Amino acid sequence: MSLFSGTRKWVYYRQSVGSFQRLHRWSGQLLIAALFIAPWISIGGNPLLRIDLPARRLFMLGQIFTASDGFLIALTALIAAFALFAISALFGRLWCGWLCPQTVFLEEWVRLVETAIEGEGLKRQRRDAGPWNFDKIWRKTAKITVLQVLSIALGLTVMSYFAGSSEIWTFQAGPVDYIMVGILSAGAMVDWLYFREQLCIYLCPYARFQSALTDSDSLMVAFDHTKPIGKGKAFSQNGDCFDCGKCVNVCPMGIDIRDGFQLECINCARCVDACTSVMEPLGHETIVRYSTLTEEEGGKTRWLRPRTLLYGAIISGLGIALISGIFLHNPVEISLNRMAGSTFQVDEQGMVSNTYMLRIVNNDPNKTHGFAVGVVGLENVVVSVAPVLLEPGEGRTIPLVLRIPANEANGSQPFEVTVRNADATRTVDATFLAPHGGQG
Ligand code: SF4
Ligand code: SF4
Repeated sequence: MSLFSGTRKWVYYRQSVGSFQRLHRWSGQLLIAALFIAPWISIGGNPLLRIDLPARRLFMLGQIFTASDGFLIALTALIAAFALFAISALFGRLWCGWLCPQTVFLEEWVRLVETAIEGEGLKRQRRDAGPWNFDKIWRKTAKITVLQVLSIALGLTVMSYFAGSSEIWTFQAGPVDYIMVGILSAGAMVDWLYFREQLCIYLCPYARFQSALTDSDSLMVAFDHTKPIGKGKAFSQNGDCFDCGKCVNVCPMGIDIRDGFQLECINCARCVDACTSVMEPLGHETIVRYSTLTEEEGGKTRWLRPRTLLYGAIISGLGIALISGIFLHNPVEISLNRMAGSTFQVDEQGMVSNTYMLRIVNNDPNKTHGFAVGVVGLENVVVSVAPVLLEPGEGRTIPLVLRIPANEANGSQPFEVTVRNADATRTVDATFLAPHGGQG
């Protein structure tokens, strides 16, 4: 299959002008700006948003979350999922047409570059169908070069959220980070040059769930079927459709909205602007508009209905749990494990020793803390542990050795390890093992 011709049916959609498209431009550019600027913003010295995978830390809004905060991260993911369900139930595929990175980058980068270098849809279509001459080759080369630069910039930006913005852009991040930049950039190029609307139609799982997430009261772009399609008419009479084809020519998904609701439609409203631009000068209202199936059938849209109320209740409940969780977020995280493969040892001085691995994480986003380790519940215990000083968000695993005179140790004895800094104390339960009978 050729990249620019052959069995793949390419969509050469035309420019659409109107209020929705102006809103698209503004919102799209703002979203891209936010994506590029956010990794450079820090709050109280911590990134606004960063996923530090090697250290298993998440920085969000200046706070540090570690593996033990998994439930907070799960709550956030659940809220995002239910918010998407709620948006779909209320506004149909508004996410697809207005907020999805696929649409935003295709419209705000790829389409702008393509139009500037190769011209509008019809011109591109004619050139693509023609022979490979110098004009076609230099334009394709220039377009691919510009998109390649943009895809690398996008890859670097996405990886800024993992490796840190200054590290990645000054080439001080690790080789794996740059391999990921390469993979992301290559993925974006395949999408931008080949998949495009096919990704929405055939690959996106969200698109597959649409029919389950929406109902007859969900917002969609609809053609007013009370207006007959007057084929061959030069202009519209009585505000009916005069088959100018503009709404079809501007559709990035290559569909005809006049055929009724179609799963491919991403609610982008390009056809609404197109129809408005031909009907308004004739003194008529647009025949293609945002509506709902209920409205199209003469009813009144119900925004508050069981499924939207249920989503609202779930999101509220999860939101309260998340806020409480953040509020109760513990500034110190500890865990204690017996050293792998060890039980106890009896030395020549007649002492029984147990060795543990103690992990301490300083979750305080603002302060470096020194930590004191103590033991409660073991008589005459000798505690050997290195002093611990941890920077904000830093975690460290250290050996903790406890020794008890053999004649005082007998079998298994429960005790507690306490870890204390200037602001907080954490405790963890453990067991000291010794030979039965108290003798080594
Ligand atoms: S039919 Fe209209 S709203 Fe739907 S994808 Fe095409 S242009 Fe966008
Ligand atoms: S733009 Fe409006 S008038 Fe023209 S074909 Fe589409 S629906 Fe009919």
